[in-house]
Amino acid sequence: MASSSCIITIDGPAGTGKSSVARLLSQRLGMDCLDTGSLYRAVSLLALESGTDPEDGPALAILAREVNLHFDWSQDPPAMQIGDRDVSSRIRDLDVSTMVSPVASQPELRAVLNEAQRMVAQRRPRLVTEGRDQGSVVFPDADVRFFLDADEEVRAQRRSLQMSRGGAKVDKDAIRSDIRRRDKSDRSRQAAPLVQPEGSILIDSTSLTLDEVVDRMAEEIDRITGRVWENS
Ligand code: C5P
Repeated sequence: MASSSCIITIDGPAGTGKSSVARLLSQRLGMDCLDTGSLYRAVSLLALESGTDPEDGPALAILAREVNLHFDWSQDPPAMQIGDRDVSSRIRDLDVSTMVSPVASQPELRAVLNEAQRMVAQRRPRLVTEGRDQGSVVFPDADVRFFLDADEEVRAQRRSLQMSRGGAKVDKDAIRSDIRRRDKSDRSRQAAPLVQPEGSILIDSTSLTLDEVVDRMAEEIDRITGRVWENS
């Protein structure tokens, strides 16, 4: 199984634990893991720093193409790099989160980042990839597609905990309204809105632990692909 390609997508709203689940699942299956939200966050940071209008799609697309936006795969999890600058932690700050919704709504930018994501999959063809449009737009023919959801309150709670563990100062109300605002924008935008892809597997993680979510996904992957995984 080690060499054949396999793409697994995980989509869902903010704070469902997609990144943690994707990382654990990829480790269990001996695959690579792609956090596509980091790309949108990195471009938002660039827009903030350069004073670019977050609704100017063509300008954002140029920004994204001009800088060397890439992952450092030697890190675990892979580090988001703008050139040789590691922005993995900076892009989690609230000022970037606030900027990311208008930025991610721009079709010109989405086209550039979709291409970047497909290039990652070409180079790393055993991939668990998570975001908002992975199973609906970027990899509609993925081997297995999941949609991860959870109650809004639980999602806000989890995100607060994650940020406070990372050492950030946490304002729960601000986090809750950030999640609410981003969900609304992600679901209602014209370009690649957040939807449960038709034919994908819905998992509600409201009352499940991370490990339980990963177990359930691994069972579905076994069932659908009929494969025996080297690390499972
Ligand atoms: O996953 P994360 O919360 O880091 O994503 C940040 C934002 O990037 C999302 O709120 C969404 O607007 C955007 N995004 C997207 N498509 C993806 C991944 C993220 O539009 N595939």
